Amino acid sequence: MKKPEVLIVGAGIAGPALAYWLSRNGCRPTVVEQSRQLRSGGSAIVVKGPAIPVAERMGILQQLRERATRNRSLTLLDADGGRILQLPLTSDDAPTVEVTRADLSEVLHRSAQTEAEFVFDDTVTALDQDGGGVEVTFRRSPPRRFDLVVGADGMHSTVRRLMFGPERQFVRDLGLYGATVPLAPDAVEDPTEMTMLTAPNRMLVVHPSRTTPLAVFTFRVTQLAPHDRKDIALHKQTVADAYAGVGWRAPELVAAYLDHPAPFFDPLTTVRMPSWSRGRVVLLGDAAAATALLGDGSSMAMAGAYALAEELAAHPGGHARAFAAYEARLRREVGPRQRRVGLLSRLMVPRTRPGLAVRNTVARAVGRTSRIAVREAANR
Ligand SMILES: Cc1cc2nc3c(=O)[nH]c(=O)nc-3n(C[C@H](O)[C@H](O)[C@H](O)COP(=O)(O)OP(=O)(O)OC[C@H]3O[C@@H](n4cnc5c(N)ncnc54)[C@H](O)[C@@H]3O)c2cc1C
Repeated sequence: MKKPEVLIVGAGIAGPALAYWLSRNGCRPTVVEQSRQLRSGGSAIVVKGPAIPVAERMGILQQLRERATRNRSLTLLDADGGRILQLPLTSDDAPTVEVTRADLSEVLHRSAQTEAEFVFDDTVTALDQDGGGVEVTFRRSPPRRFDLVVGADGMHSTVRRLMFGPERQFVRDLGLYGATVPLAPDAVEDPTEMTMLTAPNRMLVVHPSRTTPLAVFTFRVTQLAPHDRKDIALHKQTVADAYAGVGWRAPELVAAYLDHPAPFFDPLTTVRMPSWSRGRVVLLGDAAAATALLGDGSSMAMAGAYALAEELAAHPGGHARAFAAYEARLRREVGPRQRRVGLLSRLMVPRTRPGLAVRNTVARAVGRTSRIAVREAANR
Protein backbone atom coordinates (compact mmCIF):
# COMPACT_ATOMS: atom_id res chain seq x y z
CA MET A 1 0.00 0.00 0.00
CA LYS A 2 1.27 3.47 -0.87
CA LYS A 3 2.54 5.35 2.18
CA PRO A 4 0.57 8.57 2.84
CA GLU A 5 2.62 11.62 1.83
CA VAL A 6 2.50 14.38 4.40
CA LEU A 7 3.85 17.90 3.93
CA ILE A 8 4.98 19.55 7.16
CA VAL A 9 5.48 23.32 6.90
CA GLY A 10 8.10 24.56 9.41
CA ALA A 11 11.26 22.96 10.79
CA GLY A 12 11.18 24.48 14.27
CA ILE A 13 10.34 22.14 17.14
CA ALA A 14 6.97 20.65 16.15
CA GLY A 15 7.95 19.99 12.50
CA PRO A 16 11.00 17.72 12.99
CA ALA A 17 9.33 15.94 15.93
CA LEU A 18 6.31 15.16 13.76
CA ALA A 19 8.49 14.08 10.82
CA TYR A 20 10.23 11.57 13.08
CA TRP A 21 7.00 10.08 14.41
CA LEU A 22 5.18 10.03 11.07
CA SER A 23 7.98 8.11 9.38
CA ARG A 24 7.93 5.63 12.29
CA ASN A 25 4.18 5.27 11.78
CA GLY A 26 4.28 4.45 8.07
CA CYS A 27 4.00 7.89 6.39
CA ARG A 28 6.37 9.73 4.03
CA PRO A 29 6.97 13.18 5.51
CA THR A 30 8.46 16.16 3.67
CA VAL A 31 9.39 19.22 5.72
CA VAL A 32 9.61 22.66 4.09
CA GLU A 33 11.31 25.47 6.04
CA GLN A 34 11.43 29.07 4.91
CA SER A 35 14.84 29.82 6.47
CA ARG A 36 18.05 28.76 4.74
CA GLN A 37 18.99 26.64 7.77
CA LEU A 38 17.61 25.74 11.18
CA ARG A 39 16.90 28.93 13.11
CA SER A 40 19.28 29.42 15.99
CA GLY A 41 17.58 32.22 17.97
CA GLY A 42 15.79 31.93 21.27
CA SER A 43 16.59 31.49 24.89
CA ALA A 44 16.82 28.32 26.91
CA ILE A 45 13.56 26.45 27.15
CA VAL A 46 12.50 23.71 29.51
CA VAL A 47 11.50 20.32 28.13
CA LYS A 48 8.98 19.06 30.64
CA GLY A 49 5.66 17.35 31.34
CA PRO A 50 4.33 15.30 28.41
CA ALA A 51 7.44 16.10 26.31
CA ILE A 52 9.71 14.05 28.58
CA PRO A 53 8.24 10.62 27.66
CA VAL A 54 8.20 11.72 24.00
CA ALA A 55 11.94 12.57 24.17
CA GLU A 56 12.55 9.28 25.95
CA ARG A 57 10.76 7.26 23.24
CA MET A 58 12.70 9.14 20.55
CA GLY A 59 15.94 8.19 22.32
CA ILE A 60 17.06 11.83 22.59
CA LEU A 61 16.64 12.44 26.32
CA GLN A 62 20.27 11.64 27.06
CA GLN A 63 21.47 13.94 24.24
CA LEU A 64 19.35 16.72 25.68
CA ARG A 65 20.74 16.08 29.17
CA GLU A 66 24.27 16.34 27.77
CA ARG A 67 23.42 19.75 26.29
CA ALA A 68 21.45 20.93 29.31
CA THR A 69 22.22 24.31 30.81
CA ARG A 70 23.56 24.27 34.33
CA ASN A 71 21.02 26.81 35.45
CA ARG A 72 19.98 25.99 39.02
CA SER A 73 18.56 29.18 40.53
CA LEU A 74 16.80 32.41 39.73
CA THR A 75 17.84 35.57 41.53
CA LEU A 76 15.32 38.41 41.51
CA LEU A 77 16.74 41.92 41.45
CA ASP A 78 15.06 45.24 42.10
CA ALA A 79 15.17 48.08 39.55
CA ASP A 80 18.65 49.14 40.71
CA GLY A 81 20.10 45.66 40.66
CA GLY A 82 19.75 45.03 44.44
CA ARG A 83 19.20 41.34 45.21
CA ILE A 84 15.71 40.54 46.52
CA LEU A 85 15.60 36.77 46.73
CA GLN A 86 16.82 33.60 45.12
CA LEU A 87 14.56 30.75 43.99
CA PRO A 88 15.62 27.20 43.16
CA LEU A 89 14.81 26.14 39.60
CA THR A 90 15.26 22.41 39.93
CA SER A 91 13.08 19.95 41.75
CA ASP A 92 13.24 16.19 42.09
CA ASP A 93 9.42 15.99 41.86
CA ALA A 94 9.15 16.35 38.08
CA PRO A 95 11.93 15.58 35.58
CA THR A 96 12.78 18.52 33.31
CA VAL A 97 15.69 19.39 31.01
CA GLU A 98 16.59 22.99 30.20
CA VAL A 99 18.34 23.37 26.83
CA THR A 100 18.64 26.22 24.39
CA ARG A 101 15.89 26.30 21.79
CA ALA A 102 18.58 25.96 19.11
CA ASP A 103 19.94 22.77 20.71
CA LEU A 104 16.47 21.25 20.99
CA SER A 105 15.72 22.10 17.36
CA GLU A 106 19.05 20.61 16.21
CA VAL A 107 18.64 17.37 18.19
CA LEU A 108 15.10 16.89 16.84
CA HIS A 109 16.22 17.66 13.29
CA ARG A 110 19.09 15.19 13.55
CA SER A 111 16.72 12.40 14.61
CA ALA A 112 14.32 13.17 11.78
CA GLN A 113 16.66 14.00 8.88
CA THR A 114 17.36 10.40 7.89
CA GLU A 115 13.65 9.61 7.97
CA ALA A 116 12.23 12.63 6.14
CA GLU A 117 13.00 14.93 3.23
CA PHE A 118 13.88 18.46 4.41
CA VAL A 119 13.63 21.38 1.98
CA PHE A 120 15.09 24.68 3.24
CA ASP A 121 14.69 28.19 1.82
CA ASP A 122 11.20 27.55 0.52
CA THR A 123 7.60 27.94 1.61
CA VAL A 124 4.05 27.29 0.53
CA THR A 125 2.14 29.96 -1.36
CA ALA A 126 -1.17 28.16 -2.05
CA LEU A 127 -3.04 25.12 -0.77
CA ASP A 128 -5.85 23.75 -2.90
CA GLN A 129 -7.56 20.65 -1.54
CA ASP A 130 -10.09 18.24 -3.03
CA GLY A 131 -11.52 14.91 -1.88
CA GLY A 132 -8.28 13.00 -2.56
CA GLY A 133 -5.43 15.31 -1.58
CA VAL A 134 -3.90 18.79 -1.43
CA GLU A 135 -2.25 20.56 -4.38
CA VAL A 136 0.57 22.61 -2.91
CA THR A 137 2.23 25.52 -4.65
CA PHE A 138 5.69 26.48 -3.39
CA ARG A 139 7.65 29.72 -3.70
CA ARG A 140 10.59 27.91 -5.33
CA SER A 141 9.92 24.17 -5.78
CA PRO A 142 7.52 22.87 -8.43
CA PRO A 143 3.90 22.23 -7.34
CA ARG A 144 3.29 18.87 -5.68
CA ARG A 145 0.33 16.85 -4.39
CA PHE A 146 0.21 15.55 -0.81
CA ASP A 147 -2.30 13.45 1.11
CA LEU A 148 -2.14 15.74 4.13
CA VAL A 149 -0.57 19.09 5.06
CA VAL A 150 0.50 20.10 8.57
CA GLY A 151 1.10 23.74 9.49
CA ALA A 152 3.96 23.63 12.03
CA ASP A 153 5.07 27.10 10.99
CA GLY A 154 4.85 28.86 14.32
CA MET A 155 3.08 31.87 15.71
CA HIS A 156 2.83 33.71 12.37
CA SER A 157 1.74 30.62 10.45
CA THR A 158 1.27 30.93 6.70
CA VAL A 159 -0.71 27.67 6.56
CA ARG A 160 -3.15 29.13 9.11
CA ARG A 161 -3.52 32.30 7.05
CA LEU A 162 -4.07 30.39 3.81
CA MET A 163 -6.64 27.98 5.29
CA PHE A 164 -8.34 29.86 8.12
CA GLY A 165 -7.90 33.58 7.43
CA PRO A 166 -5.84 36.54 8.63
CA GLU A 167 -3.68 36.30 11.75
CA ARG A 168 -5.57 39.05 13.60
CA GLN A 169 -8.60 36.73 13.98
CA PHE A 170 -6.67 34.24 16.09
CA VAL A 171 -3.63 35.93 17.59
CA ARG A 172 -4.19 37.78 20.85
CA ASP A 173 -1.60 40.23 22.07
CA LEU A 174 -0.60 40.04 25.73
CA GLY A 175 0.53 43.66 25.52
CA LEU A 176 4.12 42.57 26.04
CA TYR A 177 7.10 42.35 23.72
CA GLY A 178 9.98 39.90 23.91
CA ALA A 179 13.48 40.56 22.60
CA THR A 180 16.63 38.48 22.98
CA VAL A 181 20.28 38.79 22.09
CA PRO A 182 23.18 36.34 22.58
CA LEU A 183 26.01 37.55 24.83
CA ALA A 184 29.71 36.78 25.01
CA PRO A 185 30.48 33.59 27.00
CA ASP A 186 32.11 35.62 29.79
CA ALA A 187 28.99 37.79 30.25
CA VAL A 188 27.90 35.66 33.21
CA GLU A 189 29.99 35.02 36.28
CA ASP A 190 27.99 32.09 37.61
CA PRO A 191 26.64 29.68 34.95
CA THR A 192 24.21 28.17 37.45
CA GLU A 193 22.44 31.44 38.25
CA MET A 194 19.81 33.22 36.16
CA THR A 195 19.32 36.85 37.16
CA MET A 196 16.11 38.77 36.61
CA LEU A 197 15.61 42.49 37.12
CA THR A 198 12.07 43.79 37.22
CA ALA A 199 10.99 47.43 37.11
CA PRO A 200 7.41 48.49 36.39
CA ASN A 201 6.56 47.32 32.86
CA ARG A 202 10.04 45.95 32.23
CA MET A 203 11.87 42.77 32.94
CA LEU A 204 15.47 42.00 32.02
CA VAL A 205 16.94 38.53 32.39
CA VAL A 206 20.48 37.30 31.95
CA HIS A 207 20.08 33.65 31.14
CA PRO A 208 23.21 31.51 31.32
CA SER A 209 23.62 28.56 29.01
CA ARG A 210 26.38 26.03 28.38
CA THR A 211 27.89 28.12 25.59
CA THR A 212 26.14 31.40 24.81
CA PRO A 213 24.38 33.35 27.56
CA LEU A 214 21.41 35.42 26.52
CA ALA A 215 19.88 38.75 27.50
CA VAL A 216 16.08 38.55 27.47
CA PHE A 217 14.04 41.77 27.45
CA THR A 218 10.33 41.48 28.22
CA PHE A 219 8.47 44.75 28.35
CA ARG A 220 5.19 46.56 27.92
CA VAL A 221 5.01 49.57 25.62
CA THR A 222 2.08 51.37 24.15
CA GLN A 223 1.12 49.27 21.18
CA LEU A 224 3.57 49.68 18.30
CA ALA A 225 1.95 50.95 15.18
CA PRO A 226 1.47 48.15 12.61
CA HIS A 227 4.91 47.60 11.15
CA ASP A 228 7.02 45.18 9.22
CA ARG A 229 8.04 42.37 11.57
CA LYS A 230 11.48 42.49 9.97
CA ASP A 231 12.05 46.18 10.78
CA ILE A 232 15.19 45.64 12.87
CA ALA A 233 15.90 49.36 13.27
CA LEU A 234 12.48 49.87 14.87
CA HIS A 235 13.00 46.86 17.17
CA LYS A 236 16.33 48.25 18.34
CA GLN A 237 14.91 51.70 18.95
CA THR A 238 11.96 50.20 20.88
CA VAL A 239 14.24 48.19 23.17
CA ALA A 240 16.57 51.17 23.74
CA ASP A 241 13.62 53.43 24.62
CA ALA A 242 11.98 50.85 26.91
CA TYR A 243 15.13 50.36 29.01
CA ALA A 244 16.35 53.96 29.14
CA GLY A 245 17.01 54.85 32.77
CA VAL A 246 17.03 51.25 34.01
CA GLY A 247 20.03 50.51 36.24
CA TRP A 248 22.12 47.38 36.83
CA ARG A 249 23.52 45.95 33.55
CA ALA A 250 20.76 47.40 31.36
CA PRO A 251 22.98 49.88 29.45
CA GLU A 252 25.53 47.19 28.59
CA LEU A 253 22.85 44.64 27.60
CA VAL A 254 20.94 47.16 25.50
CA ALA A 255 24.25 48.02 23.78
CA ALA A 256 24.71 44.30 22.97
CA TYR A 257 21.18 44.28 21.49
CA LEU A 258 21.91 47.36 19.37
CA ASP A 259 25.20 45.86 18.14
CA HIS A 260 23.70 42.57 16.97
CA PRO A 261 22.86 42.39 13.24
CA ALA A 262 19.56 40.49 13.69
CA PRO A 263 18.39 40.25 17.30
CA PHE A 264 15.09 38.50 18.08
CA PHE A 265 11.97 40.66 18.64
CA ASP A 266 8.30 39.69 18.69
CA PRO A 267 5.11 40.62 20.49
CA LEU A 268 4.12 38.02 23.11
CA THR A 269 0.84 36.57 22.00
CA THR A 270 -1.45 33.61 22.35
CA VAL A 271 -3.12 31.80 19.47
CA ARG A 272 -6.71 30.65 20.02
CA MET A 273 -8.63 28.91 17.29
CA PRO A 274 -12.07 27.32 17.30
CA SER A 275 -10.75 24.38 15.29
CA TRP A 276 -7.25 23.23 14.32
CA SER A 277 -8.06 21.46 11.07
CA ARG A 278 -9.83 22.06 7.81
CA GLY A 279 -10.22 19.07 5.55
CA ARG A 280 -6.79 17.59 4.95
CA VAL A 281 -4.88 20.47 6.57
CA VAL A 282 -4.13 20.58 10.28
CA LEU A 283 -2.20 22.93 12.56
CA LEU A 284 0.38 21.92 15.16
CA GLY A 285 2.46 23.67 17.83
CA ASP A 286 2.41 27.47 18.06
CA ALA A 287 0.47 27.73 14.80
CA ALA A 288 -2.52 26.06 16.52
CA ALA A 289 -2.29 27.18 20.12
CA ALA A 290 0.68 29.25 21.23
CA THR A 291 1.09 30.13 24.88
CA ALA A 292 3.91 32.67 24.65
CA LEU A 293 5.49 33.68 27.92
CA LEU A 294 4.99 30.37 29.73
CA GLY A 295 7.96 28.77 27.99
CA ASP A 296 5.78 25.68 27.47
CA GLY A 297 5.53 26.01 23.69
CA SER A 298 8.27 23.53 22.86
CA SER A 299 6.97 20.86 25.22
CA MET A 300 3.45 21.31 23.86
CA ALA A 301 4.83 21.11 20.30
CA MET A 302 6.60 17.82 21.00
CA ALA A 303 3.58 16.34 22.79
CA GLY A 304 1.33 17.49 19.94
CA ALA A 305 3.57 15.95 17.28
CA TYR A 306 3.51 12.62 19.07
CA ALA A 307 -0.27 12.70 19.55
CA LEU A 308 -0.94 13.67 15.93
CA ALA A 309 1.26 10.88 14.54
CA GLU A 310 -0.25 8.38 16.95
CA GLU A 311 -3.83 9.31 16.02
CA LEU A 312 -3.06 9.16 12.29
CA ALA A 313 -1.64 5.66 12.79
CA ALA A 314 -4.72 4.67 14.82
CA HIS A 315 -7.12 5.89 12.08
CA PRO A 316 -5.61 4.77 8.75
CA GLY A 317 -7.39 6.55 5.90
CA GLY A 318 -9.53 8.47 8.40
CA HIS A 319 -7.69 11.75 8.76
CA ALA A 320 -10.81 13.62 9.97
CA ARG A 321 -11.23 11.30 12.96
CA ALA A 322 -7.47 11.36 13.61
CA PHE A 323 -7.38 15.19 13.58
CA ALA A 324 -10.37 15.38 15.95
CA ALA A 325 -8.82 12.90 18.39
CA TYR A 326 -5.46 14.71 18.29
CA GLU A 327 -7.11 18.08 18.90
CA ALA A 328 -9.18 16.77 21.83
CA ARG A 329 -6.04 15.29 23.44
CA LEU A 330 -3.95 18.41 23.06
CA ARG A 331 -6.62 20.87 24.10
CA ARG A 332 -6.64 19.17 27.51
CA GLU A 333 -2.98 20.19 27.86
CA VAL A 334 -2.97 23.67 26.32
CA GLY A 335 -6.41 24.90 27.47
CA PRO A 336 -5.52 25.36 31.16
CA ARG A 337 -2.19 26.93 30.21
CA GLN A 338 -3.86 29.47 27.93
CA ARG A 339 -6.29 30.42 30.68
CA ARG A 340 -3.38 31.18 33.05
CA VAL A 341 -1.35 33.29 30.67
CA GLY A 342 -3.05 36.66 31.24
CA LEU A 343 -2.63 36.52 35.01
CA LEU A 344 0.93 35.30 34.65
CA SER A 345 1.87 38.14 32.33
CA ARG A 346 0.65 40.62 34.94
CA LEU A 347 2.58 38.82 37.69
CA MET A 348 5.78 38.49 35.69
CA VAL A 349 5.88 42.07 34.46
CA PRO A 350 3.85 44.14 36.95
CA ARG A 351 2.74 47.58 35.84
CA THR A 352 3.42 49.38 39.13
CA ARG A 353 5.70 49.29 42.17
CA PRO A 354 2.89 47.97 44.44
CA GLY A 355 2.30 45.28 41.80
CA LEU A 356 5.98 44.43 41.98
CA ALA A 357 5.78 44.05 45.76
CA VAL A 358 2.85 41.62 45.32
CA ARG A 359 4.85 39.67 42.74
CA ASN A 360 7.79 39.35 45.13
CA THR A 361 5.48 38.12 47.91
CA VAL A 362 4.10 35.48 45.53
CA ALA A 363 7.64 34.47 44.55
CA ARG A 364 8.57 33.99 48.21
CA ALA A 365 5.45 31.88 48.75
CA VAL A 366 6.28 29.75 45.70
CA GLY A 367 9.77 29.23 47.11
CA ARG A 368 8.32 28.12 50.44
CA THR A 369 5.78 25.72 48.94
CA SER A 370 8.52 24.09 46.88
CA ARG A 371 9.90 23.14 50.32
CA ILE A 372 13.34 24.49 49.45
CA ALA A 373 14.49 27.43 51.48
CA VAL A 374 14.46 30.70 49.62
CA ARG A 375 17.69 32.38 50.39
CA GLU A 376 16.99 35.98 51.27
CA ALA A 377 19.75 38.11 49.81
CA ALA A 378 22.13 39.51 52.38
CA ASN A 379 21.74 43.11 51.31
CA ARG A 380 17.96 43.32 51.93
C1 LIG B 1 13.84 32.10 16.34
C2 LIG B 1 12.88 31.69 17.44
C3 LIG B 1 13.17 32.00 18.77
C4 LIG B 1 12.31 31.60 19.79
N1 LIG B 1 12.64 31.89 21.09
C5 LIG B 1 11.90 31.43 22.11
C6 LIG B 1 12.27 31.65 23.46
O1 LIG B 1 13.29 32.28 23.72
N2 LIG B 1 11.48 31.16 24.45
C7 LIG B 1 10.35 30.44 24.17
O2 LIG B 1 9.67 29.99 25.08
N3 LIG B 1 9.96 30.23 22.89
C8 LIG B 1 10.70 30.70 21.86
N4 LIG B 1 10.32 30.49 20.56
C9 LIG B 1 9.04 29.83 20.33
C10 LIG B 1 9.18 28.36 20.54
O3 LIG B 1 10.18 27.84 19.69
C11 LIG B 1 7.81 27.78 20.23
O4 LIG B 1 6.89 28.21 21.22
C12 LIG B 1 7.78 26.31 20.33
O5 LIG B 1 8.99 25.75 20.03
C13 LIG B 1 6.69 25.75 19.41
O6 LIG B 1 7.33 25.22 18.28
P1 LIG B 1 6.82 25.33 16.81
O7 LIG B 1 7.62 24.35 16.07
O8 LIG B 1 5.34 25.28 16.81
O9 LIG B 1 7.17 26.81 16.35
P2 LIG B 1 8.58 27.47 16.09
O10 LIG B 1 9.61 26.94 17.01
O11 LIG B 1 8.34 28.92 16.07
O12 LIG B 1 8.99 26.96 14.62
C14 LIG B 1 8.29 27.36 13.45
C15 LIG B 1 9.22 27.15 12.27
O13 LIG B 1 8.47 27.40 11.09
C16 LIG B 1 9.23 28.21 10.22
N5 LIG B 1 8.30 28.93 9.37
C17 LIG B 1 7.54 30.00 9.70
N6 LIG B 1 6.78 30.37 8.66
C18 LIG B 1 7.07 29.51 7.65
C19 LIG B 1 6.60 29.38 6.35
N7 LIG B 1 5.69 30.22 5.84
N8 LIG B 1 7.10 28.38 5.56
C20 LIG B 1 8.02 27.53 6.07
N9 LIG B 1 8.51 27.61 7.32
C21 LIG B 1 8.03 28.58 8.10
C22 LIG B 1 10.04 29.07 11.14
O14 LIG B 1 11.18 29.60 10.49
C23 LIG B 1 10.40 28.09 12.23
O15 LIG B 1 11.56 27.38 11.93
C24 LIG B 1 11.11 30.90 19.50
C25 LIG B 1 10.81 30.61 18.17
C26 LIG B 1 11.68 30.98 17.13
C27 LIG B 1 11.34 30.63 15.70
